[in-house]
Amino acid sequence: MRHTALQTSLIPLLLTIVLVGFVSGCALNPVSGTPDVVFMSEASEINIGSSNDTKIREQYGVYENPELQAYINRVGQQLAAQSHRPGLGYHFTVLDSPAVNAFALPGGYIYITRGILAYLNSEAELAAVLGHEIGHVTARHGVRQYTAATATGFVGAIIGVATGIGATQDLFNKVFGNAILSGYGRDHELESDRLGAEYLARTGYDPQAVIKVIGVLKNQEAYEKKLAAAENRQPRIYHGVFASHPSADKRLQEVVGEADKFKSLSEPKLAREDYFKQIDKLAFGIITKSSGKLTKGGLLYTNRYYLPEIDLAIDLPSGWSLQQTLDTITATSTDQQSLLQLDVRELEKNVTPDEFLRRHMQLSTLPKGGAVTGLSQTSYTTVLPLATAFSARETRAIVVDHKNRRLFFQGTARTHEGFTAADPVFLATARSLRPLKADEKQLMERTGTAQRLRVIQARPGDTFASLAKKSPLNKNGEDTLRLINNLFPDGEPQAGELIKIIE
Ligand SMILES: [Zn+2]
Repeated sequence: MRHTALQTSLIPLLLTIVLVGFVSGCALNPVSGTPDVVFMSEASEINIGSSNDTKIREQYGVYENPELQAYINRVGQQLAAQSHRPGLGYHFTVLDSPAVNAFALPGGYIYITRGILAYLNSEAELAAVLGHEIGHVTARHGVRQYTAATATGFVGAIIGVATGIGATQDLFNKVFGNAILSGYGRDHELESDRLGAEYLARTGYDPQAVIKVIGVLKNQEAYEKKLAAAENRQPRIYHGVFASHPSADKRLQEVVGEADKFKSLSEPKLAREDYFKQIDKLAFGIITKSSGKLTKGGLLYTNRYYLPEIDLAIDLPSGWSLQQTLDTITATSTDQQSLLQLDVRELEKNVTPDEFLRRHMQLSTLPKGGAVTGLSQTSYTTVLPLATAFSARETRAIVVDHKNRRLFFQGTARTHEGFTAADPVFLATARSLRPLKADEKQLMERTGTAQRLRVIQARPGDTFASLAKKSPLNKNGEDTLRLINNLFPDGEPQAGELIKIIE
């Protein structure tokens, strides 16, 4: 079977997961000690983790701060040593993503974003997030999910679960695997909270940090959902947060309370200052320009994609939900039936757009196509009659060269009728290419410098309103400062206490 480029790029983890051989068997679950019907050996499980680790690192970028990485690893390893699978070999990585998230791959590969770090207020809260993710690994949630997915043929569903991020998740969630995913949801999340609380207690932290951190993230989630809806984009939220607030969640309180019996220190560690020292100067928000890694990519802002380095703006389909990973934008229609992906690549000067497309799709010849009418740039577009993982029967491919970049659009839909309806939208998106307007240039200059989180000691008279005014944050600045300091909705800094500001 020939895999199209659309398949491999839309679902980067799928192929690997499918190709990993798995050994059938009935192993004991490491947490419950009872037999688990998971058709996968531990070696295969580790293999899934390690082979997808490279892709995750490439896709999201690793946050370049060795000291911070070492700190996160230190906290994580201490928890893992107290877990049900202490010998597994764990890997903890901070991703350079503004998304508020953390997730685990099978086999002990755990990721936490710089985005979520800004919202945590102590080492104990950090440990609570890492402990929760370790819980997904020790209870083999990913593996169990994989088994369920294989049994029903919805292998794609694993990807969203494994990554917890992205349009892919959303897509597979809503289009393919809704039933599976919601079945995976609450019980396993609660089990991870229970295990996380236990690992916290055994490591000397207060298990109540689990409740605390879910409260912080719940506030962030509610606020972010409102913003995202107004800005027409996907909210950046943590997968482990559910409908009710932790203060009202009796089951959560119960399982966390049970962890008290594992307490190893009478005075549990909070380590607020240690944590604050580590996250001082952390990059904040959507811009990672200063990290130098967004060499090809740009900035997604409301429903526009800006590439200031090549003076280009693109209008993305209005009302579609948008997701950015490093150099890729994915737009999904509101009914989840159509999908447009844009990859920004380095231009290979001696490869024409049609030749690029032919090679990329691994085709011997391309269907008849031509330049995109109305565009001044060198371009090529055609419709490829290919079945893809998104189960469309055709894909609109558009390649546009601009300065030293090559923009590669791929549009598809679930059905032929859907494709016919969406195709003009795909073409219009490519035709919307234009230089930045003056006010957009200003916006880029203003936000193009990475915002940084700073830890300061609050002075008498400091308010979040006054601190927000001095920050580069926009109209939501005051709320943002309260949210990252867990003083939302109306708290104020107390003179002398350590607080986080953005500069
Ligand atoms: Zn979780």
